[in-house]
Amino acid sequence: MAYKPRIRSKEYLILRVLKIRMTMPKKDKQRYFRLKKGYEGEEMFDTLTEKLQCECYILNDLLLKVNNITFQVDTLIIISSKVCFYEVKNNEDDYFYDSEKDILYKKPQKEYSNPLTQLNRSESLLRQLLQNIGYNFPIEAQVVFINPKFTLYQAPMDKPFIFPTQVENYLKKLDSTPSQLNGRHKMLADKLISLHIEKNPYTTLPSYTYGQLRKGMTCEVCDSFSISVQGKKCVCGDCGHEELMEAAVLRSVREIKLLFPDLKITTSLVHEWCGVVDSERRIRRILGENFKIFGNRRWVFYE
Ligand SMILES: [Zn+2]
Repeated sequence: MAYKPRIRSKEYLILRVLKIRMTMPKKDKQRYFRLKKGYEGEEMFDTLTEKLQCECYILNDLLLKVNNITFQVDTLIIISSKVCFYEVKNNEDDYFYDSEKDILYKKPQKEYSNPLTQLNRSESLLRQLLQNIGYNFPIEAQVVFINPKFTLYQAPMDKPFIFPTQVENYLKKLDSTPSQLNGRHKMLADKLISLHIEKNPYTTLPSYTYGQLRKGMTCEVCDSFSISVQGKKCVCGDCGHEELMEAAVLRSVREIKLLFPDLKITTSLVHEWCGVVDSERRIRRILGENFKIFGNRRWVFYE
């Protein structure tokens, strides 16, 4: 299991809800899909690294800062002899590599930023950071192309690329590297986690207001608004998914808190947001059973 699990960023989660509830500007939509694709790739890689049996610390998704420069590490694995880190790419389709210019193109001729540039930058920054905190471990940096539909023509053999067909063997080899961790490795892992920056300074969100967003409960599987209440369940008219009403209401509350952290959670607010639940009484009961109640009478809110 990962020592530091991967958590989808607030920015991603907010964009995900906004995409369903408003017409988002094109650039934000594109950003959402880019983030989504990235996560899917990273999670594909996570399912493989989770199988490692050797003594190691796996740290997923670190945002670090050294000399005031921020950099991101998709996956970092500490074994006793070295620190391995990976830039995970989920590109699909056909690309080719121009070795003379060190440029990656998507076929037929669209230039694509070379992941090696990013990798080298992160490697250098990580090395500085490790030195600053007193570690001189060797670093091994690699770009992992995880998507099985990715092909790189004219791939250079001397670059630190791991291709989809190689990932499994690569990890097998890593797994068989003798590794015995000690307290110093644990201290390094803990230190890196403590240095991780929770709030990404590059977060960009479209502006939105409560009034502007479409209200109504959505299906947790297919995002459809076609939800009807049947007894204690909420049923999706599109995919048939069933969810206990209580769970669905609590999910809606989490959504409101995510989008509007300053709004007070009241029965009428949640009632309006959920839409399909007919009576405020049901909402009040669910909120009362799951949150602390503050205020009294008409001014009750929940935290
Ligand atoms: Zn559905």
